Order: sequence, then structure tokens, then C-alpha cells
Amino acid sequence: MREALIVGGGIAGLFSAICLRLTGWQVRVLEQAPALEAVGAGIQLSPNATNLLKETDSLPLIKDTSFAPEAIEMRNGTTGRQFCYLPLGKTAETRWGAPYIHIHRADLIAALERRLEQLQPDALILNAQVSDIHQDGEQVDAQLIDGRRFTADMLVAADGVHSAIRAQTIGDDAPHFTNSVAFRTIVSADRLGDTVPPPTAAIWTGAGKHAVTTRLRGGALVNFVGVVETDILQHARQRLGIDPSNAVVRESWSQEADKNVAKAIFADCHPIIRNILEIADDVKCWSLNARKPLPRWSEGHVVLIGDAAHPMLPSLAQGGVQALEDGYVLARALHRHESITAGAAAYFQERIGRVSQVQTMSAQNMRLYHHRSRAAQLAHYLPIEVASKTTPSLIYRRLDWLLGKRYPSLL
Ligand SMILES: Cc1cc2nc3c(=O)[nH]c(=O)nc-3n(C[C@H](O)[C@H](O)[C@H](O)COP(=O)(O)OP(=O)(O)OC[C@H]3O[C@@H](n4cnc5c(N)ncnc54)[C@H](O)[C@@H]3O)c2cc1C
Repeated sequence: MREALIVGGGIAGLFSAICLRLTGWQVRVLEQAPALEAVGAGIQLSPNATNLLKETDSLPLIKDTSFAPEAIEMRNGTTGRQFCYLPLGKTAETRWGAPYIHIHRADLIAALERRLEQLQPDALILNAQVSDIHQDGEQVDAQLIDGRRFTADMLVAADGVHSAIRAQTIGDDAPHFTNSVAFRTIVSADRLGDTVPPPTAAIWTGAGKHAVTTRLRGGALVNFVGVVETDILQHARQRLGIDPSNAVVRESWSQEADKNVAKAIFADCHPIIRNILEIADDVKCWSLNARKPLPRWSEGHVVLIGDAAHPMLPSLAQGGVQALEDGYVLARALHRHESITAGAAAYFQERIGRVSQVQTMSAQNMRLYHHRSRAAQLAHYLPIEVASKTTPSLIYRRLDWLLGKRYPSLL
């Protein structure tokens, strides 16, 4: 039986382990953390992801923790006026073959961990930080900081946006700051009273900033992400008398933000947005960097997946989704090719065009949501409003390539 080491127990690492196991590999997931903790926030899983969860019998494991939004909608972030409403629910499921859902990242991770455990009980190894890797002919070694060493036929680097394995094998991915920062928080829906956001994936547009509200855990939690351009952020900090040199934002799920800064940025927004930040106990921030597509995702028997291969901006809600697609396509490609290098090359060929398109569209979406002048807002939002009211089928059709993507079965 072929053996794979997978570095990283995030969405990409756990799902690739599931798919590799289902195609006959012995897998070991090396995760540096002592436990798969509840880090992260809400993520959206579109049907191109839930189809794969269905295919691998993982979907039933998130039934109790996910939330099915009624629609994707766009609203003016100040007045709350809705100018686009695209029903999801049964419409999405019929059109794209699987449900559109929202889920807390921690709930998805827990479900993937359970599915992997069903398939291979000893697969996940915690407290296992990889410090170095080494390839020798047909074998790859992973050296851990505590001195342990593991060897396998292939190593899958699922070590996230700051992948050390990417830096070691392919080179630096040259992050480019997009001049935008994301704030996020999760609050209980009960505490919001009349200002609870709608049960949708709602995008609240604004000049140089936008917010997205979604519901999690059967609707009991409200997930908020607010993205702001740096001039507005600096202005808010200045107004609050904060020294800009004390305000470095990193790319991290766990960096604490100053809630007063978030409140000041979104102070002119609709009460639904303002109230979330008002009652939030804990606001986090994340620096949004863009990257050009890498020229390749493998070196010998080392293969990159998920954010290690292609970090993307959150404005198309596809980072985790594309990580799931990677794991599935990689396992399928390896199953269909004799050699690991041929399988890895086929995986890259199948994925690079689609992932690059998603990266580009994510960047475009951010610009779309942030138009500053009234003229630009009208020019961009009016056609969306007209299409949403008169020919929604056009909007669905434009999403088919992304949300309706179906892959053949793994075996
Ligand atoms: C604000 C925001 C909102 C988002 N919203 C969405 C959304 O709605 N939908 C969506 O699909 N995506 C969303 N994303 C993106 C999504 O969260 C990521 O794309 C996804 O989590 C990437 O998964 P991954 O497994 O590749 O990496 P990660 O989740 O970062 O996992 C990497 C793992 O590797 C481990 N690790 C790292 N180095 C080592 C080492 N040396 N040894 C051992 N272990 C190691 C880490 O501890 C971690 O567990 C969002 C992102 C942001 C910032």
C-alpha cells in the first residue's frame, strides 16, 4: 500500500487524507497543534464543495452544525436597501446537485476529523511540527522539531498560507498587500434582537469597505466579516488617537483587533452591522494579501494543496472550498497514474486554470463591493439589480462554472 504524509490538519490536509485513504493510501496527518482547536470563523461551502463532501460520505457529519442560507443577497451597507436577491435552498440544490451551506470552520474540521477516524483510526498525529523535509529517490522524510522522523512515498504540504514547505520546495510566493484588512467576529443571534441579520449570505456594500453577514449552527450564531481599505482604517485609527506603528496586522486567524477601530470604521453603516460590532466580545483582524499563481505545485514527491498552493482573498468565499477540490482532484489523479510525479502533474494541470480564475474573481469582487463614487455604484449595481429582478437565470448561469462544478467519482 502506498503511504502519504500530510503536513497540516486544516481543511486541505484532512480532506486530502480522506480522499487518499478512499483511493487506497495509508495516510498520516502531521499537525503541529496539540489539538484541532476551534480556531477560525464561519465559512461558506458552496455546492462545488458539498458535492465532494457527499461523494466521500462526509456530508451527513455536518448536518447538525451547518446552516442553509435562504439566498445570496446584496444590500447597500448604509441604508440596507436590498438590490440583489438570489434564492439558494432547493433552487441551488436542484441546479448544482448539493446544498449551499454555512458552517463554523471548527465544526467542519471536527467532522473531517471524524470521517478520517472512521476510515483510518490512527491517521492523525497531533503535536507534530515538521521542521524540515528531505527527498531521497522515491521516498520523502519529514523531520519533526522533537526529533521524530517519518518516511513515506509522498508528502502533501497542506501547511497553510505561510507554508514553510512551499518556501523550501517551490520558493517564495511573494505576497502583495491589497491595502485591505478584514475584521471578523461571531455573536449570538439571540443578543441582536430586532437587528439580527437575515438568514442569508448578505453582502453589504460600501465606499472602500464592505461587510458580509452569514448565520451558523442552525442560525443561532451570526458570523461577520468586514473588509476595509487602509486609508479608511488609518483615518479611524487617527480619530481614536492610535499610533499607526502599533497597528500592524498579520495574516492570522487569531490576531486580536481593537474593537473600537472596527466600530469607528463601520459607524456609518446600517444598524444591523453596527449592532454586531457593538455587542461583539472578541473581534479579530487579518491582513489581506494577494498572490500570483505559482508556476507549479509539486517538486518530485512533494505536492502542495490548499492555501499552501494558492491562498486567495475571501471575497468569493472559496478558499476552503478550493482546498476541498484540491484534495479530491489530487487523490483522483494519483489513482489514475502509475507514478506520483505523473499524478501530481495531472492534478496541477486540472486545477491551475480554475484556481487562477477563482483568485482573479475574488480580487474583482472586492473592487465591486467597494465602489466609492455614486456614479460607479450606479453603473455597477443597477445592472445587477435589473438582472436579479428580471432575469435571475442569467446570474445563476454566470455562477454555473464555479458552483456547479462536478467531478467524476474518486475510483
Ligand atoms: C476573513 C476570511 C474569511 C474566509 N471565508 C471563507 C469562506 O467563506 N469560504 C471558504 O471556502 N474559505 C474562506 N476563507 C479561506 C479559508 O479559511 C482557507 O482558505 C482555508 O482554511 C485553507 O485551508 P488549509 O487547510 O489550506 O490551511 P489552514 O486552514 O491554514 O491549515 C493549515 C494547517 O497546517 C498546520 N501547520 C502549519 N505548519 C505546520 C508544520 N510545520 N507542521 C505541522 N503542521 C503545520 C497548521 O497548524 C494548520 O492546522 C476565509 C479566509 C478569511 C481570512
